[in-house]
Amino acid sequence: MHVFDKIYINGQFVKPIGLEELELINPANKQVTGKVVLGNVEDTQLAIAAAKSAFKHFSKTTVQERADMLLRLHQSLLSRFDRLTEATVEEYGAPVSVARMLTQIAVDAFLHTKEDLESYSFTRTAGKAKVRMEPIGVVGAITPWNANATHLANKIAPALAAGCTLVVKPSELSAAQTQLFAEAIHEAGIPAGVINIVNGKGEVVGEELTRHPDVGVMAFTGSTQVGKRIAAGAAAQLKRITLELGGKSPTVILDDADLSKAIPLAVRAGYINSGQACLAGTRVIVPASRLQEVKQLMASAIEAVQVGDLWDEATLIGPMASQKQYDTVQRYIRQALEDGAELVAGGPGSPEGLHTGYFVKPTVFASVTNDMTIAREEVFGPVLAILTYQTEEEAIEIANDTPYGLQAFVFSGSTERGNRVAEQIVAGRISVNGLHDEPKAPFGGFKQSGIGREHGTYGIEEYLEPKAILGHYAVLA
Ligand code: NAD
Repeated sequence: MHVFDKIYINGQFVKPIGLEELELINPANKQVTGKVVLGNVEDTQLAIAAAKSAFKHFSKTTVQERADMLLRLHQSLLSRFDRLTEATVEEYGAPVSVARMLTQIAVDAFLHTKEDLESYSFTRTAGKAKVRMEPIGVVGAITPWNANATHLANKIAPALAAGCTLVVKPSELSAAQTQLFAEAIHEAGIPAGVINIVNGKGEVVGEELTRHPDVGVMAFTGSTQVGKRIAAGAAAQLKRITLELGGKSPTVILDDADLSKAIPLAVRAGYINSGQACLAGTRVIVPASRLQEVKQLMASAIEAVQVGDLWDEATLIGPMASQKQYDTVQRYIRQALEDGAELVAGGPGSPEGLHTGYFVKPTVFASVTNDMTIAREEVFGPVLAILTYQTEEEAIEIANDTPYGLQAFVFSGSTERGNRVAEQIVAGRISVNGLHDEPKAPFGGFKQSGIGREHGTYGIEEYLEPKAILGHYAVLA
């Protein structure tokens, strides 16, 4: 039993004033693995006060000082690489290869941000004016459970680079990853109060961050529903917000694509992080004339997908993170069947021999139209919907007919055609002919997938405000 009964405020590990406890459950076997003691509103206020006080000095630090801190954070996280990976497997249920990738992204984020910081111009000119990019203030950062360490890194690194201080409220289900992160921050010698971490519930700690007048920026990753709540709350003081929200990403397979290559890639795009990924390509949009081929290839690609043993390098899909998430996915699968979708693979229930954890069957539906719930709402599990089109224009129209706009994938036999279609899709990131990543490129959503961007200089600028100094050359005459 692991007990996480400390939060990190003003450079110290302290017992929270809050007394509420939450049981932590290993999703692969439903065993209780520990408990986390949750911070309350008072804990949050203490953390905000520490961050506010630290901001006075931290906002004046040099680029070199902050770059050194980012490097130290990279190193101290790197020394916890295996433990962080293990925590992600045990606490969240990620297969080990996925957990390792998530840890790598978290560790690398500090190095990439350091590079971006070192080449960033904090002072520029606009006409005759001098423009200084200034840190906004205290950041309230909130992360979800599906890649907690990655999201912590993607918020902490750019906020530090900008010269902001933070109060972080990680997912309450990710206490082991959070503890390792807090230890890494402590070991890296980050000045007291610059990064504070309060475990706690969204309705308690999260809402206090949103409400408190001393928090200047809300940086949130999570559901669109909670994102809207935060935007509404932050509006009371016109706080700056970055919201990284949900998605229902299209994977457009053009009629000149080699299906034997495109379909396995489409399955991987849809099943990223066991399907518990905001960017997962869950609407697979295919030419009607090739539907039979698509269904056959899809069924055999799914058969090859390994579900189960999280420590097996070949496993692609782990359990859903919680009973709640398992129930949600089952509900969407049942509803798709009721709405008349055709089952190509998977279906309700758990895979053979995997009833002890929150495992679901990798599932694919065909005969889906874009007005069905399975095509419109984010399932957040390994469930794909195949939709058909007659013309390229219709494929693009279906791809864009969604309230979301986070990510898209396009597969085509012609790179040029793939790019032409990519340019017409309304999404923050579009990956052509592969599952590409570029940590320096902006990440974030159009429409209800969010506001603002993470990564690269785009990410750093979310924590900066331009200040124009006019007549900076003038002599009083
Ligand atoms: P969630 O919105 O339920 O919770 C996210 C975080 O918000 C948690 O820390 C939670 O405690 C907190 N929270 C809950 N209610 C709150 C409130 N009223 N005020 C402030 N904070 C509150 O999401 P989840 O279930 O943890 O994660 C899954 C969702 O996250 C999915 O919709 C997914 O698409 C989204 N997501 C988006 C991205 C992205 O980068 N766009 C990445 C990962 C996950």
